[in-house]
Amino acid sequence: MPIEKTEAIVIKTHKYHETSKIATLYTKRFGKISVIAKGIRKTDSKYGGIMETINLISVIFYYKSGKSVHLLKECDLVNSFNDVRSDLNKTAVAYAILELLNCTIVEEEENEKVYNILVNVINNLSEVKKNIINLYWYFTLELLCELGFTINFSKCVKCNKEDLLDKVYFMIVEGGLVCKECSRTKDIDFDISLEALKILNKLQEMPLHSVCNIIPSTRSIMEINEILHRFMRYHIDGFKVPVALKLISN
Ligand SMILES: [Zn+2]
Repeated sequence: MPIEKTEAIVIKTHKYHETSKIATLYTKRFGKISVIAKGIRKTDSKYGGIMETINLISVIFYYKSGKSVHLLKECDLVNSFNDVRSDLNKTAVAYAILELLNCTIVEEEENEKVYNILVNVINNLSEVKKNIINLYWYFTLELLCELGFTINFSKCVKCNKEDLLDKVYFMIVEGGLVCKECSRTKDIDFDISLEALKILNKLQEMPLHSVCNIIPSTRSIMEINEILHRFMRYHIDGFKVPVALKLISN
């Protein structure tokens, strides 16, 4: 069994037998993997507290080819994101992002870009004070892009018209917007407000550190969640709306 080393974010964990734990990790080198940490729940385990959801860790494990769970050898804490953990809203956003990642990606598909986006978004979540739901949307759009779904929020998918100042509609099957003219003959899923449209547009263009400067109204929050979730429910097998979103009060 080869020994491998990588950095990872802990997506989730569950208890296994009396003293062990199985953790799902999003790793830099292997994508999503699961490891069993034997004896980690013993009171004298030197790794206690490291294998916790959200933590950024360094892991050394025995890679078992063809197995769904690998064997942890050692782990080290790199960052426990205490500023995220000490704030219920931030913890909920981080959990929602991890839930989303877990249900949309398959195991052992390395994608360093997704790993870097994940770490950067959680780092940013530590620092920001307001509008943190924007980071969930930012991550969702970036992840969708990596999964091959780039939603164009700036022009009509039918006629390519860019000046969408009038009423605009969203077509899930087509994966984008349709203008008023094109909507007459097509199957429309729902209309989208200009405010929500502008926010989604900005999220795709802005650098990560500015994303939380956008102030969404309560209506836009509901609308954007609905657009993104309905889109993913249609296009991505296994997608589930993250339960943690219910805990966020913006
Ligand atoms: Zn059109």
